Amino acid sequence: GGGGKKGGKPAEVDTKAITATKEDDLAAWYQEILLKGDFLEYSDIPGCYIINPSSYAVWENIVAFLNSRFKKMGVRNCYFPLFISEANLQKEKDHLEGFEAEVAWVTHGGKDKLQTRLAVRPTSETAMYPYYAKKIRSHRDLPLRLNQWNNVVRWEFKHAMPFLRSREFLWQEGHTAHLTKEAAGEEVLQILDHYAAVYEELLAVPVVKGTKTDNEKFAGADYTTTIEGYIPATGRGIQAGTSHCLGQHFSKMFSITVEDPSAKDGEKKPPLHVWQNSWGFTTRSIGVAVLIHSDNKGLVIPPRVSEVQVVVVPVGITAKLSQEVKDKMVKETEAIRFTLEQAGVRVESDLRDNYSPGFKFNEWELKGVPLRVEFGPKDSEQHVITVSRRDQDGKSTIPITNISEEVPKLLETIQQDMFNRASEAYAEHRVNVTDWDQFVPSLNAKNVNIIPHCLGGPCEDEIKDLSKRVSQGDDLAEDARAPSMGAKSLCIPFEQPEGLVEGETKCLNPNCKNLAKKWVMFGRSY
Ligand code: AMP
Repeated sequence: GGGGKKGGKPAEVDTKAITATKEDDLAAWYQEILLKGDFLEYSDIPGCYIINPSSYAVWENIVAFLNSRFKKMGVRNCYFPLFISEANLQKEKDHLEGFEAEVAWVTHGGKDKLQTRLAVRPTSETAMYPYYAKKIRSHRDLPLRLNQWNNVVRWEFKHAMPFLRSREFLWQEGHTAHLTKEAAGEEVLQILDHYAAVYEELLAVPVVKGTKTDNEKFAGADYTTTIEGYIPATGRGIQAGTSHCLGQHFSKMFSITVEDPSAKDGEKKPPLHVWQNSWGFTTRSIGVAVLIHSDNKGLVIPPRVSEVQVVVVPVGITAKLSQEVKDKMVKETEAIRFTLEQAGVRVESDLRDNYSPGFKFNEWELKGVPLRVEFGPKDSEQHVITVSRRDQDGKSTIPITNISEEVPKLLETIQQDMFNRASEAYAEHRVNVTDWDQFVPSLNAKNVNIIPHCLGGPCEDEIKDLSKRVSQGDDLAEDARAPSMGAKSLCIPFEQPEGLVEGETKCLNPNCKNLAKKWVMFGRSY
């Protein structure tokens, strides 16, 4: 980065520049760009982070987008307590088993021990469904579609990583009840489409839609649909959002029933258990976008979610200029900002006079603002602005008379280009593997592998074992660059490749004797 602070404290450039590189030390680089880009701070509680205003603004854009889509579906927002009684949490056995190891408990109120401890919600099925049992009286109450925007706590022991895996995170959790399996199933997919749209349309991140295998489905669900992302720098997959059909597991445990609407007058028919869904989307999405798009100069934020989309920086204001010319430059800079604001652009002008343009460029690059406008006496003379895209090198000019149209257009081009680049990287590294000998080399080449698989749980576990990188002593150093972990199943893609012959094609695991049922995407993952 260039420039230095004029006068006062010594130049801050050295402490501000990114020192780790994305290629050599992704974990250090990620931490550095988040801190120096002012996205996040560490707290004194391991696995818990402070979300700064500029990343919270990204979240707010996601919230607005999803809220608008949810409301069109008839989903209503509400709020349930943070705490879940132990009795309720224990009602659905598979669910409890899945979450037990990660539940944080409140045991005391002040100095007094509580008679029964309270769970801090890891997810709210068991907090909400006793209420559903009361609220749902007849089939006319269906579908019931509620959502809450809240925080949850999962005391994870897996390596924490800002946004991607934290012990407390922000999300929305939708919980719906339906009369029929079909109605529930339809909604599961609608929600998955909305989640994919957040990634693809807002965050410029491509995802693959699919179903989880039984091993990886949500605890207590009938089936889990998922969108799976990909981090090119490490070649690892990441679960980007999940929409579950819970079937009737919870409605049976919580007695959520309605009378059978097909019963004729006076006819006795057994009550029907409702069909339920739950679906969640978290602040992990912010981390996925940051990891994919950012570079060695700092954050790169997609225009549609960036708090500031354009920054206008005056340049070429030297001491030699008369006060009159300086005043005119400030006025014209402000006019540019105002015009862009009127055109619906989230724009700021950086008029601080104690920093050089070079220092400011560096700072806005760290923050990932998608477009920088430079405006100086020469630009003024030629009636243009000079623009520099955060996502690529080089500068160009736009006539001032056109900025209301051209700048929003350019922001959309940046958005699209970012998506296209990420999309190409994912497509290139999503490979069909039909020869087991290629499985691990392909993972090492930072691919996710789509393989013919039997869908057996133990077989999946075995593949994980077989694909672990053999330890060569220096485990930790190796892990920082390339994970030594085995590959797990990411999803059964909805879009299945050709070439799997039922009753003929074998499961790719060399130790498995079963036939393949589906193409399944495996990968090292976060
Ligand atoms: P689940 O309720 O388990 O289906 O989780 C919903 C979504 O939350 C998952 O699809 C992940 O994208 C995300 N997620 C899971 N664990 C965490 C975590 N510890 N921090 C942030 N996001 C998470």
